[in-house]
Amino acid sequence: MTQVKHYDSFPVWIPILSTFVSLLIYTIGFYVFLQFSIIIAVFYILYCLWVEMRVLTKSCVSCYYYGKVCGLGRGVLCSLLFKKGDPAKFVEKEVSWIQIVPDFLVFIFPLLGGIVLLITDFSYTILLLLIFLFVLSFVGSAVIRGSFACKYCKQREIGCPAEKLFSKQ
Ligand code: SF4
Repeated sequence: MTQVKHYDSFPVWIPILSTFVSLLIYTIGFYVFLQFSIIIAVFYILYCLWVEMRVLTKSCVSCYYYGKVCGLGRGVLCSLLFKKGDPAKFVEKEVSWIQIVPDFLVFIFPLLGGIVLLITDFSYTILLLLIFLFVLSFVGSAVIRGSFACKYCKQREIGCPAEKLFSKQ
């Protein structure tokens, strides 16, 4: 049997799984901030949307999977919203830890908010949600990228600065 090196178009269950994990993180974050106020919760969702748009416009437009089913589920969406970029730019780009801080803040903000809630008004629901959020953000995302998405990604073979940065760890 031949070993799959990369997918030209990912099996649909992989982007469904990775999108589901992202949506779960956003939903838990929304719920945590809802305990403070609806306005803070809405600002959090707007922040998540901004982070998603940033990825679509800065990376996905120039990715091999623009217009295709990619492991993280953004290739087709990106082609519906934005014009195709220059694939050479994807490889040339330098990515540092500082540049990806906004992506980490998507789960760090609700983790911090949840810790404040636990200190001020302890609840087991929030505690369980925070543990779940932590596992989803660190273990879930790492497994999806390492075992399903980046592992079979054609763009990784061509060159992916983000994957290089993570694989240094
Ligand atoms: S290798 Fe790069 S382009 Fe491919 S899924 Fe991972 S982060 Fe995205």
